[in-house]
Amino acid sequence: MLLINHANVCIQNIVLNKLKGNIKLAVLRLDKLHPIISGNKWFKLKLQLQEVVNNQYDGVVTFGGAYSNHIVSAAYVCKVLGLESVGIIRGEAPKKLSHTLLVAKDYGMDLQFVSRSAYDNKSLLQQRLQNKNLYIIPEGGYAVLGANGVTEMYQWIDETCTHIVCAVGTGTMMAGLIKGALPHQKIVGINVLKGHDKLLNEVKNLLTEQEQLKQFELIEGYHFGGYAKHPQDLINWMNLIYKQHQLPTDLVYTSKLMYGVIDLIQQNYFPANSNVMVVHSGGLQGNLSLPKGTLVFD
Ligand SMILES: *Cc1c(COP(=O)(O)O)cnc(C)c1O
Repeated sequence: MLLINHANVCIQNIVLNKLKGNIKLAVLRLDKLHPIISGNKWFKLKLQLQEVVNNQYDGVVTFGGAYSNHIVSAAYVCKVLGLESVGIIRGEAPKKLSHTLLVAKDYGMDLQFVSRSAYDNKSLLQQRLQNKNLYIIPEGGYAVLGANGVTEMYQWIDETCTHIVCAVGTGTMMAGLIKGALPHQKIVGINVLKGHDKLLNEVKNLLTEQEQLKQFELIEGYHFGGYAKHPQDLINWMNLIYKQHQLPTDLVYTSKLMYGVIDLIQQNYFPANSNVMVVHSGGLQGNLSLPKGTLVFD
């Protein structure tokens, strides 16, 4: 079921001025994986799609908001695999669909808008779909199989890496990185949402007891006002790291991730001689919702 060619993925070393403690910083450019099914979404979907194909489901039903990278990715892979796809979208149908939803619709996804309260009511949703032979992929691909697929990212991560840093939305990617980590490696998650304890529990819920003993930490304080909030400060930061390092980032996850990592380095979070790998998990399509000209890259 090979759909995605990994050839464009690369490691980009980032050289910072005035770095104390001989810290090595590099970015795993999973944004280069594919223009549509970007970054981590492919790894989270992969094993779940294998289930769909192996068990001869007609397709997939999944969940998300109007700007969900997961929705676009699911719509795209389903189209390529010849599977039906249904997207349950949180909130009333807008007059004008977001860029994300237009693309998903274009790939043949059946978009069904449900109120926020109905969205949280799983049994109601199941009733709606009861006659269909569809596999349910949770919002954001949050499932043990989703996390298991993420361990494949270690094909690019050297054993000498001491810290692997990622953005955290549902926590699936962070859980997968923890699963695959070696004993000397610490996984650092940058929370892009407000709220800590619930998310930490969600990460742990995808781990075995043994895996929960590994080294990991969820870091707070880099959400810039909350999920998908993008004040001018953040836009300026995105333009700055592009100009300095030719590194494009998205406004929901990876810009906040890079801000967090560089701030943590400046605060001496990482011990001297650490070898830090940041996972660029993609998501650049989300920037298309910004007015043209906001960013110096596209
Ligand atoms: C979905 C997404 C994330 C969050 O991944 P989780 O596994 O839900 O924590 C991070 N970065 C990008 C670019 C994403 O699209």
